[in-house]
Order: sequence, then structure tokens, then C-alpha cells
Amino acid sequence: MVNRRDWLRNSAALLGSMMLPISNMEGMDFTVPMLAGDKAPIKINQNENAYGPSPMAIKAMTEQITKGNRYALPLITEFKAALAKMHNVKESQILIGSGSSEILALSTFLAAERGKGNLIAADPTFKIWLKPAERVGLDVKWIPLDKKMGHDLTQMSDAVNDKTRFIYVCNPNNPTGTVLNDADLRSFIKKHAPTSYIIVDEAYTEYADAPSVSDMVSAFPNLIIAKTFSKIYGMAGLRVGYAIAQEETIKALSKYQAWANAGVSNVSVAAAMEGLKDNAHCEKAKTLNTQVRTFTEGILKEKGFEYIPSKTNFMFFNVHHLNMDFADVMNKNGILLRNWEAAGKKYARISMGTMEEMQTFAEVFRKVV
Ligand code: PLP
Repeated sequence: MVNRRDWLRNSAALLGSMMLPISNMEGMDFTVPMLAGDKAPIKINQNENAYGPSPMAIKAMTEQITKGNRYALPLITEFKAALAKMHNVKESQILIGSGSSEILALSTFLAAERGKGNLIAADPTFKIWLKPAERVGLDVKWIPLDKKMGHDLTQMSDAVNDKTRFIYVCNPNNPTGTVLNDADLRSFIKKHAPTSYIIVDEAYTEYADAPSVSDMVSAFPNLIIAKTFSKIYGMAGLRVGYAIAQEETIKALSKYQAWANAGVSNVSVAAAMEGLKDNAHCEKAKTLNTQVRTFTEGILKEKGFEYIPSKTNFMFFNVHHLNMDFADVMNKNGILLRNWEAAGKKYARISMGTMEEMQTFAEVFRKVV
């Protein structure tokens, strides 16, 4: 049997010549080493949950496979009721999407109904909405992060004008892992939601124990909260996300879906419903994630890398001093991660894998740097 260390050594030379470009959901191209046999690269490039769905969800999915001949709407209706209860809103205030990416795209369409204008977002942030936004005539005003690499709400606020249609707030922020002060975010929403759509992307709140601002939708028709099952629930491949907003806003958003709420499969919805019930599984993923993050901080510290303290399942660190394309070199050594730029400097982002995966990361990282 070849262990991972041997495999890394033996295959590093081979990898350079066997690269498969694929499209990254964050709008960038990246390259995945094609590996022989069953050797998988360490995949820490897309902020996935390393521990997978709850066993209860897996059981429910298995049972649903044989019911794949039936449309999923009855199940989706039940699912919406469970989500509404959890967030203390009406079922009519929830829209199910194929991941929260769909919700973000639909939100740009809705915002553009008010005419061409601008969209305000932090730089860098998660920008899956960029292509749809540009397509419908929204120009993006990128607002650099503050010194702590979080959203600069003051600068974002100053950028708002009468042509602002959409403000995107990613809290916690991907890729920096920073969390906004709850009171600051709430005053920002109070100030700008009366005139512009504000989309608060809460993909990682559970990791950070950051409070949701979904309770504010009752006061602001322009406020849309985007949530996903891809992160803490470990279901990125199952494509389940949802929006929380006022009933009229949800209705307006749903007009952009061919069949409202029904774009997810029975298997995915069954998994999500069970995932919701399995708190212990989420807690376990969170605890393991924190342990792995502490380990990873140690590795970065050991090598003198400056990193942004993260509350999420990913970390962002400065690689500006390295005389190499860091992601490219790591990718060629079987560790998939991403380069980023922030404030004119080069950074890398890594997701937290399992402890074993991060030990392999550490081994390669020590060699490479
Ligand atoms: N929002 C943020 C901040 C993300 O980082 C991601 C995925 O990485 C998403 C949304 C998309 O999630 P989904 O898989 O639900 O489309």
C-alpha cells in the first residue's frame, strides 16, 4: 500500500504535466491535478465541510432514491414549514433555491427591476452574483476592506447614492473569515434598507456563532437573507439554499424561478430536513473545525505567516513575501487551495479539512515555503 507521503513524493513530478482546468464557482478558473488511480488531492479550496452530511440525512437520502419518480413539492412544503418555524417567520417568507448561489443571482434580477444602477460590495468578498449582476446592468462599486480585513461599513455607506440598487454584505466574509459587529450591521441595514435592496449572506454564521439578522426582515421589504445547507450542514453537492424576506419580496424573487421552490430534488430536500434535526452533528463539525483551525494557525505561526483571525471553516493569510505562485505550487503538490488579492497584496485562502488532511497540508506547506 502506498501511503500519502510516498504518493506525494512520487506523483509531484507527474502532476505538473497532467492538469485539468475547471471552472470555480467563485468566478475564477483554477486547475485540479489529475491523479492516477484512487489518489485524491487534498481539497481545501472551496470552503466545504470536511465531515459530510449527518448520518440521519444519509439514511433519508437513501430512502428517497426509490421515490425519485415523484415530484418533490409535498416534501418541499414540509421543509419550508420547518425552516419558517426555525426562523420564526411565515412559510410565505421563505424561498428555496438550488443553493444560496441561486438566491443571490435572483436577487440581482429583482434589484435591476428598479433600473440600471450600482451594486455595492466589499473587496474581496464572495462574488458568485457578479455575472448575473453585470448582465442585468448593475455596475459594481468595490469597497476595500478595512484594516482588520472586514467590511468597511462606513465606506460602503458613503458609496450609496440614489442609483444604488443592491448592497451585498457577506457576514462572515468569504474569503477573510471576519465577522461584523452586530450593532454596526443593524444600523447599516436601518440606514440603507429603506432605499436599496440589502442582501446579507449568512453562509457561515453557524461556524462563527454570529447572530442572524433575519429578524429584521419584518421591518424592511428590501432586506433579503441568503442561507445555505452547503457549509455547516455539509451538503454542498446537494444544492439547497433559501432566502428569508417579506412575503412580497419572496413572491417577486420567485417570479424568476420557472417553478417556485421546486428546483431541488427530493433526495436533497430529505437530507436538508434531517440535517436540520441533527444538531449534534453540526456541533461536532464545529468543534472539530475549531480544533483544526487552531492546529492550522500553529502551522502558519511557525512559518511566520500573517493570517486573519477566522471564525469560520477557512483561513486567509498573506503570501506576498513568497517568490512563487503559491496556489500553483501547492496545487501541483496535491493540495488544492486558492490565491487571492486584497489591498494590492497576495493572499491565499484555505478551507479547514480534517485533521489528517491538514497534517498533509502542513507537511507540504513546510516543504514548499
Ligand atoms: N455564500 C458564500 C459566502 C459562500 O462562500 C458560498 C459558497 O462557497 C455560497 C454563498 C454558495 O453556497 P451554495 O452552495 O449554497 O450555492
